[in-house]
Amino acid sequence: MAAKSRRKSVACNIGGVLVGGANPVVVQSMTNTDTADTSATANQIMELARAGSEIVRITVNNDEAAKAVPKVVDAIRAFGFETPIVGDFHYNGHQLLKKYPECARALAKYRINPGNVNIGKKHDDNFRTMIEVAIEYDRPVRIGVNWGSLDSDLLTRLMDENAGQPNPLDAREVTMEAMVQSALRSAEAAERHGLPHNYIVLSAKVSTVQDLIDVNRNLAARCDYPIHLGLTEAGLGAKGIVATTAALSILLQEGIGDTIRSSLTPMPNGDRTEEVMVCQQVLQSLGLRSFTPQVAACPGCGRTTSTFFQEMADDIQKYLREQMPTWREQYKGVEELKVAVMGCIVNGPGESKHADIGISLPGTFEEPKAPVYMDGKLLKTLKGDGIVPEFIEILNDYVARRYSAAEDAPVEAGNAR
Ligand code: SF4
Repeated sequence: MAAKSRRKSVACNIGGVLVGGANPVVVQSMTNTDTADTSATANQIMELARAGSEIVRITVNNDEAAKAVPKVVDAIRAFGFETPIVGDFHYNGHQLLKKYPECARALAKYRINPGNVNIGKKHDDNFRTMIEVAIEYDRPVRIGVNWGSLDSDLLTRLMDENAGQPNPLDAREVTMEAMVQSALRSAEAAERHGLPHNYIVLSAKVSTVQDLIDVNRNLAARCDYPIHLGLTEAGLGAKGIVATTAALSILLQEGIGDTIRSSLTPMPNGDRTEEVMVCQQVLQSLGLRSFTPQVAACPGCGRTTSTFFQEMADDIQKYLREQMPTWREQYKGVEELKVAVMGCIVNGPGESKHADIGISLPGTFEEPKAPVYMDGKLLKTLKGDGIVPEFIEILNDYVARRYSAAEDAPVEAGNAR
């Protein structure tokens, strides 16, 4: 079943990347370097961009970070990366943006957290200052509400009002409502201060799946601003990936969400680009966008005790990923290629025929030969020690033949960028 049609939203231009409207759902990520460390930050942005992050956010938390921002942006531009860089501001954004105009100019968007822009009694002055800077430099903002830093005045007021009701809601429901109101009221205030309607993206992030779904359904129903989706503090490893996927998939399937991030906690010295791959895989699994050829591989069972087919599936997946930077330029539509690497005769030929190109490896008691299928038909049978390189050669020929021919064919809207 296809996803429901997308919720109608206005489109917001973030440094040349369109978010919302009929545009494809955009993948974004965030660095975890000290922004003041210019080379580490620029390197990580380029890694994330190379992995497919279409927007990258960086922390701007102090004078050193704000001073480094234009240098970071210049450095990545010098390497040919046009990725829009977003500044993440908390508490002191109004001061940093005013004090460092080069920082304000270098950033493509400012993230404002309405829960912590209200320092002392100057709530609206600080928020207003950030909006005025956005207007001055013609930049959009994301009003990003997070339940870990929710506007405490608003929450207290809603809790008090709720307590006086004949049938009060539970605290969770009031908190979710406070998040939605915080985002919407801040957006209204931004427009009142002069920021155009289509210069605002909203987000409401929580760390549990059901809450994220509820709060974003509610937010989506009450405005037409583009929505940035993400499960905040998603966590480590399988837990983080599964929770993120579960939450984002349900909302995206309902047409909610114009840009996504997977806030995984990387393992120490782990690969930050994993969060980009998770977002891409969510979108590709839902059939919303295609980024890289997909490999269907069986889980293996007692019919194939050899790990050869697992290694081969892994080798082929890695090979495809490695080729993509070149193939993407050379072969339009190649990201939609489907490859199968299967472990035995039970499902091997069938699954291989469903793929564009597939190989069915021999199970434990089968004759040691591996039939290769192309476009649903048996092409040839491979044997011996050279199965992997021979299969890769067949794969390369197939890609060159099929996707070179498609070079001038129209590209699906969802993959236009
Ligand atoms: S295709 Fe064969 S080896 Fe793979 S899971 Fe199915 S029965 Fe087992």
